[in-house]
Amino acid sequence: MSAYQIVDHIYDVVVVGAGGAGLRATMGSAEKGLKTACVTKVFPTRSHTVAAQGGIAASLGNMGPDHWTWHMYDTVKGSDWLGDQDAIEYLVREAPAAVYELEHAGMPFSRTNEGKIYQRAFGGMTQNMGEGPAAQRTCAAADRTGHAMLHTLYQQSLKYDADFFIEYFALDLIMEGGECKGLLALSLDDGSIHRFRSQAVVLATGGYGRCYFSATSAHTCTGDGNAMALRAGLPLQDMEFVQFHPTGIYGAGVLITEGARGEGGYLTNSHGERFMERYAPSAKDLASRDVVSRSMAMEIREGRGVGEHKDHIFLHLDHIDPKILAERLPGITETAMTFAGVDMTRQPIPVVPTVHYNMGGIPTNYHGEVVTLKDGNPDAVVPGLFAVGEAACVSVHGANRLGSNSLIDLVVFGRAAGLRLAEVIKPGGQQALLAKDSADRALERLDHFRHADGGSRTAEIRLEMQRTMQKDCAVFRTERTLAEGQANIDAIYKRMADVKVSDRSLIWNSDLVETLELDNMIGQAVVTMHCAANRKESRGAHMHEDFPERNDGEWMKHTVAWFDGWGGGGGNVRIDYRPVHEFTLTDEVGYIKPKARVY
Ligand SMILES: Cc1cc2nc3c(=O)[nH]c(=O)nc-3n(C[C@H](O)[C@H](O)[C@H](O)COP(=O)(O)OP(=O)(O)OC[C@H]3O[C@@H](n4cnc5c(N)ncnc54)[C@H](O)[C@@H]3O)c2cc1C
Repeated sequence: MSAYQIVDHIYDVVVVGAGGAGLRATMGSAEKGLKTACVTKVFPTRSHTVAAQGGIAASLGNMGPDHWTWHMYDTVKGSDWLGDQDAIEYLVREAPAAVYELEHAGMPFSRTNEGKIYQRAFGGMTQNMGEGPAAQRTCAAADRTGHAMLHTLYQQSLKYDADFFIEYFALDLIMEGGECKGLLALSLDDGSIHRFRSQAVVLATGGYGRCYFSATSAHTCTGDGNAMALRAGLPLQDMEFVQFHPTGIYGAGVLITEGARGEGGYLTNSHGERFMERYAPSAKDLASRDVVSRSMAMEIREGRGVGEHKDHIFLHLDHIDPKILAERLPGITETAMTFAGVDMTRQPIPVVPTVHYNMGGIPTNYHGEVVTLKDGNPDAVVPGLFAVGEAACVSVHGANRLGSNSLIDLVVFGRAAGLRLAEVIKPGGQQALLAKDSADRALERLDHFRHADGGSRTAEIRLEMQRTMQKDCAVFRTERTLAEGQANIDAIYKRMADVKVSDRSLIWNSDLVETLELDNMIGQAVVTMHCAANRKESRGAHMHEDFPERNDGEWMKHTVAWFDGWGGGGGNVRIDYRPVHEFTLTDEVGYIKPKARVY
């Protein structure tokens, strides 16, 4: 592999990703005096976090009564009892302080008349341990909360002494004897290879929504960190749980925030009926996302969809005062016009459930340390490796994430990782030399794709993968669709052996980068499909029509799955399980016992 020039770096900590999670972890690490690098394939403020609209959850109680235990109850229930309750307690208790930290850093939140942070209603967020009415818990900066948050975090991160490697594409982890020792990355503008030796690597690489044909996530959401974990021989957890957001714009897939329903928006079918009243009599349009998406899919299936093909649903905001819309939802007013051609102050918006979030990812504890199943220990820490944000599976979202619980997850666990790093790592601590072949595995793969000369274009294989995931691993799943899906996705994976890359250069080679990203995605697509076929129950976002009930006796456990291979080689999935943490962090709140999940 001597054809590649390697530039060597030594850091205490390398963070991969500069979205909300990566920036907060970078700040936390640098603040503690650890020499920190942040490696990112896009400019930090272009990370997908910038697109978040609706808000960030914390029980501030600015707009009515609230308490962190209520937020905890809702998150556990939202997770359909697959979330780990110690981690959930950590999240909701730390949430208010995390929001105030953002406020003090200058984040431009919307305000109440008294000047407090404005909070709106969001799906599944209630008062009084699920007994009361909706809680206004979601802190918002109009409908551009992620934009405000990411820019605030980036500005803050510049005041610390961290080094940013911007437009560097991380290729693979450097692992030795089961420990993470660093990272290999490709500089996109000049093709140089960078080898980072570090005491720890933090993966904050976001979700893999682009495995699907219609997704609200950016084209960069290809789950590169998850794929690096798989290639390092580590498992991913709960990958069968893929969230469909009820309101993606029909055709374009662009998101209309749940905040639209939080501000009073509602859904109708072709009869003009507010059908959510039938499916979720008390929460109605603000039931949690899996419930609303399923209800919409059911209406469409039974012939009550709207439009020429009766294949979508209407979202109404036309009854709301245009002044309120202009103040609280200016972004989606514009989006509805651009992508659906409708003036939402007068017309309904055509919407359809669209892939939005991955509950699954790299298993971690609530410190952000990556864990794996080892010698019978389900919580064995992988030395030197952390994961935070959508790439991680802590697991606070379990089988279904509540809206506005991701942004808070990013900052709470990004900070937690920084705190843990400071505990386990000595600034400037001695690092052993890396093995001579430390770069070989990653460079072999890079070189393979750079010279790949098969008969299938990257875009062709990608489209096939996306179509198969959309069709066979959708809102509703059956034994038949999943069996077909497994056969199809396995065959598409094999096609990677026949991929063709036309550009052989190393200067801004988007053909090569998209191929590396496709190879990253397709392994996760295979794992997602096999895990979905494996889980014979319905829970949260995983609705299996042949097993329509939740089965706690057999299935209240996390799936962990390993995948061997890349580039069409290997392709086997091995599945095992980790127990759900049925305990809390402190005695101030008890374990919330499973019950039927109705809204
Ligand atoms: C349209 C939309 C609206 C949303 N609205 C909300 C909301 O209102 N509230 C809420 O709570 N959640 C919302 N979500 C979910 C939430 O925004 C995301 O889950 C969250 O922002 C993910 O943040 P992250 O830091 O984990 O990753 P991202 O923000 O996706 O950032 C990933 C980072 O990793 C880097 N990276 C990835 N691969 C590589 C590689 N190979 N090499 C180097 N760098 C790499 C990228 O450059 C990027 O910096 C929304 C999501 C979408 C798509």
